[in-house]
Amino acid sequence: AHLARIDAVDEKVHAFLHVDREGALAKAREVDEKRARGERLGPLAGVPVAVKDLFTTEGVPTTVGSKILEGWIPPYDATVVRKLKEADVVILGKTNMDEFAMGSSTENSAYGPTGNPWDLTRIPGGSGGGSSAAITAYEAPLAIGTDTGGSIRQPAAVTGTVGVKPTYGGVSRYGMVAFSSSLDQAGPCARTVLDAALLHSVIGGHDELDSTSIDQPVPDVVAAARNGEVSGLRVGVVKEFRGEGYQAGVLQRVDETVELLRELGAEVVEVSCPSFTKALAAYYLIAPSECSSNLARFDAMRYGLRVGDDGTHSAEEVTALTREAGFGDEVKRRVMLGTYALSSGYYDAYYGSAQKVRTLITRDFERAFAEVDVLVSPTTPTTAFPIGERADDPMAMYLADLCTIPSNLAGNAAMSVPCGLAEEDGLPVGLQIVAPAMADDRLYRVGAALE
Ligand code: GLN
Repeated sequence: AHLARIDAVDEKVHAFLHVDREGALAKAREVDEKRARGERLGPLAGVPVAVKDLFTTEGVPTTVGSKILEGWIPPYDATVVRKLKEADVVILGKTNMDEFAMGSSTENSAYGPTGNPWDLTRIPGGSGGGSSAAITAYEAPLAIGTDTGGSIRQPAAVTGTVGVKPTYGGVSRYGMVAFSSSLDQAGPCARTVLDAALLHSVIGGHDELDSTSIDQPVPDVVAAARNGEVSGLRVGVVKEFRGEGYQAGVLQRVDETVELLRELGAEVVEVSCPSFTKALAAYYLIAPSECSSNLARFDAMRYGLRVGDDGTHSAEEVTALTREAGFGDEVKRRVMLGTYALSSGYYDAYYGSAQKVRTLITRDFERAFAEVDVLVSPTTPTTAFPIGERADDPMAMYLADLCTIPSNLAGNAAMSVPCGLAEEDGLPVGLQIVAPAMADDRLYRVGAALE
């Protein structure tokens, strides 16, 4: 049914870069046979899932939305993909994304943009717009995304779906094509909070193959999603995330939802996190710095595209020609920014300062979580904007992640849940819920209370 739905709508939505029809049908048949034999099945047996094209999938193309990996077929599965297979999930295919997960609209994909199913002329968010659009358009019930600065939560907000960035280290990064290793985190995209919890519980947990993986059990997110009790819970509204640049209709829905939490018995207080206003600036030094190092591996020798290998060019020239042709503008911009920020003489002024801001942001969270159990704010300042509107203005694009970035810098857990449609344009609004590290279950409790 989902493959038929993809056939019917994906030409318009363009959520998928690759549909693994044979693989999906083979797995579905395998699940049926196992069931017929009375064999033990995995916890999500037969449930279709779409996977962001940033995870390696054995035998299935993985492009990261970039021409530089065109034609590359990974020889191994990412841990998340392995866990999905062990849970007997049916993997439908790979979803569209901004090239190397750099962007907030999916317009930076080398393979063309994805449309927001609410209005195909608008962006579905990014970088994981393909995953969120796929579940919004009923092409898949569940999807996997990755969130370095908001790429699961912001697409969830603008498509009216649920997206979770688990605690950093809660889900293995093994087999994720690295963008900014200290920020990247995989997580679930779903239409309901309980669906997200079920997927989270399957992909989470310790992995020896990821040195930053936390060696503790996954918080009981499924029980929390079934519980949904917020009576007595202390909720902090982040004071800094409103004002200029925030759409009135977004703030209105967020305020109403906070009121609803109060009615449900939560204790609501205003909390100030002054360093959050510097998060965007710090992120755009740290993320490009790490990216400039991570993307050095795309040298035309190891993977995918190779340009100019005709016997007339040196190895260095082949690398340069391949990068010139294979990387898009935003990727080049980030690599140049990062290389500059890390260079001798500038390191302390830029990268070093950004790391200090990162520490201040972590302290703001620590202070806040001494007083409250969760923090809430809009997920993103506006609803889905038209495709093309911010494409030539990187600064305007970066502002979409104003509210989501602090949690990546501090490594704690965060979720976006739908909280209605904005009055002025009828488009979905997301509420962001933030919890301390390894308290991911709190997100699900609050999210479930609001459904
Ligand atoms: N939009 C942010 C960026 O461009 C975040 C991306 C992400 O979370 N992968 O870097």
